[in-house]
Amino acid sequence: MTTTLLQPGEIEAAAGNIPELLLPPADAFLARALRLARLAEGHTLGDYLRFVAHLARAQQDRLTTGDTAMAMPTAERLAQCREYRMPPLAPAGLGLPEGWRDTARHLARAVRPALPTAGQAALEPVLEKQDAWLDAQAASLLDGKIQDLDVAAAPVIGAALQVHWVRLARQLDPRQVARPEHPNLCPVCGAHPVSSMVRVGGAESGLRYLHCALCSSEWHVVRAKCSNCDNTRGIAHYHLEGSNRLVQAEACPECRTYLKIIQQEKDLLADPVADDLATLTLDLLMDEAGFVRSGINWYLVQGQL
Ligand SMILES: [Zn+2]
Ligand SMILES: [Zn+2]
Repeated sequence: MTTTLLQPGEIEAAAGNIPELLLPPADAFLARALRLARLAEGHTLGDYLRFVAHLARAQQDRLTTGDTAMAMPTAERLAQCREYRMPPLAPAGLGLPEGWRDTARHLARAVRPALPTAGQAALEPVLEKQDAWLDAQAASLLDGKIQDLDVAAAPVIGAALQVHWVRLARQLDPRQVARPEHPNLCPVCGAHPVSSMVRVGGAESGLRYLHCALCSSEWHVVRAKCSNCDNTRGIAHYHLEGSNRLVQAEACPECRTYLKIIQQEKDLLADPVADDLATLTLDLLMDEAGFVRSGINWYLVQGQL
C-alpha cells in the first residue's frame, strides 16, 4: 500500500454554479444490481455479491411496480426544515413508512430461491416473525444500534427501508432541501454516507459527492476535506497495492476515520454501493492501519461475514 498526499484547496467549480444535491434516479437499484453481478465474476466474495445483486433487482422491481406510497411531509414542514437546515425526510420525523413490512417480506421471498439452504433459513424470521419484531429491527438499523440486529436478516430489512426512502426522495425538488449542517449527514434524510464518488459528465464533472446509505441521494463535499470532521490538513489517500485506484480510502489524521472515494473516470459503471462492497480488503487494511470506517453499507452489517 502506498500513500499519496493531496494538496488542500484543490480547484473546485465556483459555489453556486454546481448541483449541490443529486436526488436518486429512477433506476438506482438496477444500476447497482448490474454492477454487483459484474463485480461478482471471479471475486472471492462472489456468492455474496450475487446475493446482493438479486436483492437490488428485487428492490428495483418493488420501486418501479410495488405499492410503496408514503405520505410526504407537508409544504409547511418542508419549508421549516429548509429554514432550519434540517433533513426533511429524517426517520425520526417520519416514523416507519406504511407498507414497509410488506416490502421486506416481498424482498425476502424474492431472494430466497437464490440462496443456499442456510441462507434461506436465515431469512425465515423476516417472513415468520410478528410485525413488532420487524419494526424493532428497522428501528435498530435506523438508529445504528447494530448490537440489537439480526445480522443475517438486516440486509433485507435495510433494503426494504431503502426502497421507501428512495421513492420519497424522488418526490423532492433539490431546491426544497438546504445544505446539511454537517457534511457527513445526508441533507435529505440525515443518514450517513456509504462512500463518495468523483463524478464525470455534466455539471457535476470532477466534483465529489457523498452517497446516502438510506435514500441514495448524493451531496457535494469538496475533495481533500474530511467529511467527518471538516479537517483539510494531511488528508491521505490509500489504495491496494497494484490496484488501478478506482477505489481509494480518503483518511483523516485528525479524527482517524476514512471514507472511500471512487473515481468514476476510471470506470463509468462504478457504483458507490456495489464498489464499496467489492473492496472489503481495503477496509481490512485501513483497520490494520488504525483508521475507523465512517461509511455505512446496509448490505453488510458489521460482523456478517
Ligand atoms: Zn439520505
Ligand atoms: Zn476527520
